[in-house]
Amino acid sequence: MQKENQKLIGQTSIITGSSSGIGKAVAIALAKEGSNVVINYHSSKEEAEEVAQEISEDKAAGEAIVIKGDMSKEKDVLNLFKTTIDKFGTVDVCIPNAGMQKDAAFHEMTLEDWNAVINLNLTGQFLCCREAIKEFLRRGMRLEVSKSLGKIINMSSVHDIIPWAGHANYAASKGAIQILMKTLCQEYAHKKVRVNSISPGAIKTDINKEVWDTKEGREKMKETIPYDKIGEPEDIGRVAAWLSSDESEYINGTTIYVDGGMTCYPGFKGNG
Ligand code: NAD
Repeated sequence: MQKENQKLIGQTSIITGSSSGIGKAVAIALAKEGSNVVINYHSSKEEAEEVAQEISEDKAAGEAIVIKGDMSKEKDVLNLFKTTIDKFGTVDVCIPNAGMQKDAAFHEMTLEDWNAVINLNLTGQFLCCREAIKEFLRRGMRLEVSKSLGKIINMSSVHDIIPWAGHANYAASKGAIQILMKTLCQEYAHKKVRVNSISPGAIKTDINKEVWDTKEGREKMKETIPYDKIGEPEDIGRVAAWLSSDESEYINGTTIYVDGGMTCYPGFKGNG
C-alpha cells in the first residue's frame, strides 16, 4: 500500500548496473519512494533478482522488474527502454550508473582497455540519455506525477574534476560526463527536462573492494576524505531519490558531490 508522503508515486525509473553497489542502493531508495524500478544487470541475474525480491518485500514500494543488458551496446539499451515502456508505459527517471575501471599506467594502457571504459562509462550514458529524452518528449508532461518532463541523473565520480593517475580512461570518461550533462541541460531545460550528476567519492562497493578490504587500504583511502569515513551505497541512494523528486525541482545542470569533502583537496591541509 503506497503512502501519501512518498515522493515518486506513479513514476518509473531505469537504473543501469543496479544488481550491485551504488545502483542497487539507488534502485531500493527510489522504489521506497513509490517509483517502479527497472533493475538492469550485465552478468549476475541472481543478484538482480535478489534486489527485486528485496523491493517486493516492502509493500509500499513500487514494482521492480529485472532486465539483462550490456549498456555499452546500442541494441541492449534500446531493448531496455522498449521493454520498460511496454511494461510500465513510460520512463520518468533515468540513472545511467553502470561503470567499470580498467586501470593501468598511461604509457602501458591498451587501446582495448581505453575503449572498454569509454564504451561503457561514456557511450553507455550517451545511449541511455538519448533514449530517455526521446521518451520524455514522446510522452509529454504528466503534471499529476511530476513538475518535470523527466529527470536524468548521470552517475559520475569525483574524478570528473580530480585527476587520477593510473586511471586515465576512467577519469576521461567521468570528465566527459560532466560536460555531457551540462550540455543536455542547456539543450532540453526549456522542455522541463532536468539533467544532473551525482559524483560519489569513495563508496564501499565491488569496484574498489581490493582497496577497502584491508585495514591498510581503508586507512589510505581515508587520508583522501576530510570527513574521515568511507561512504556507503545508501549515502548515494538517498541523494538520488531526492534529486529525482520534485523537492529538487529547480536543480538543473549541476553536480552533487557526495564525497565527505574529498573534492576539498585534503592533501593541502596544513601545507604551506
Ligand atoms: P559496482 O561494480 O558494484 O557497480 C557497477 C555495476 O555496473 C555492476 O553492477 C556491474 O555489473 C555493472 N556493469 C558492468 N559492466 C556493465 C555493462 N557492460 N552493462 C551493464 N552493466 C554493467 O561498483 P559501483 O561503485 O556501485 O559503481 C557504480 C557507479 O558508481 C559506476 O559508474 C562508478 O564509476 C561510480 N562510482 C563509484 C565510486 C565508488 O567509490 N564505489 C566512486 C565514484 C563513482
